[in-house]
Amino acid sequence: KTETTYKLMGKAEVLPLYRPRQKFSHKGHYGHALILGGSYGKIGAVILSTSACLRVGAGLVTAYVPQCGLLPLQIACPEAMVLTDKGEKYISQIEFDLEPSAVGAGIGLGTEKETVSALSAFLDAQKSAMVLDADALNILSQNRKLLDKIPEGSILTPHPKELERLLGSWKDDFEKLQKTREFSVNHRCIIVIKGAHTTICAGEKCYINNNGNPGMATAGSGDVLTGFITGLLSQGYEPLAAAIFGVFLHGMAGDLAATEQGFEALTANSIIDFIGKAYIELL
Ligand code: AMP
Ligand code: MG
Repeated sequence: KTETTYKLMGKAEVLPLYRPRQKFSHKGHYGHALILGGSYGKIGAVILSTSACLRVGAGLVTAYVPQCGLLPLQIACPEAMVLTDKGEKYISQIEFDLEPSAVGAGIGLGTEKETVSALSAFLDAQKSAMVLDADALNILSQNRKLLDKIPEGSILTPHPKELERLLGSWKDDFEKLQKTREFSVNHRCIIVIKGAHTTICAGEKCYINNNGNPGMATAGSGDVLTGFITGLLSQGYEPLAAAIFGVFLHGMAGDLAATEQGFEALTANSIIDFIGKAYIELL
């Protein structure tokens, strides 16, 4: 049995993962990311993820949403392309003619029956590692057979409640970590346990994040993280590197936002606004 290792994530661990942009590159070098999610009244989550994905450096980003998401997305994120599902208010049959270099799915998705079938079929077709968050995780928890369909190396980003739905309850933090590691090994995926000290479990390897602040305990903060990690995957970061780098940048951007805005006034959008400063300070 391999021994469990814990590493505290600091600049020294994170910086070597950085993949610098090349002078003679074009947008094709930075991938085409797909952000899939949204339902009536929860299109904002997709807007946040899509903007975050663009701002972390993806070359192209397409959002896949139900029809009610078209207009808000085109207005809020003019840089992004939008593909719509046949469903008016929620995604009901995932179909598109595109080979994305990375996919982030689940934000604002809802858990309607047709959405569950659509996600199930999508997972069957999806071969490469993807980011699964929010309602994609809730759907997996409620439909356990789908767990076997998670593409290898995928990154799951549950907040504590989503993690509990996925794993069942735990008696203390040790059991929580143990259950998470087991899940990560059994389903060959990376789990990002979000919170004050976000912990990334890749099998027996655990990485503990140390930046970020309680101002980030705000609506949409996690949707931004999903966009960041998907955008990094699309640029060619390996899944574990994308998870580590994404979590670190997210915390750093949140800390920079807090120095200007304080904790209470911080919103998810400002985490996106400060990603540029985070990159500059990190490098
Ligand atoms: P979600 O609940 O999906 O919106 O995700 C919340 C995001 O905010 C995650 O990335 C968390 O790690 C981060 N977050 C929430 N609370 C805190 C906190 N007290 N300190 C640092 N980061 C936090
Ligand atoms: Mg969330």
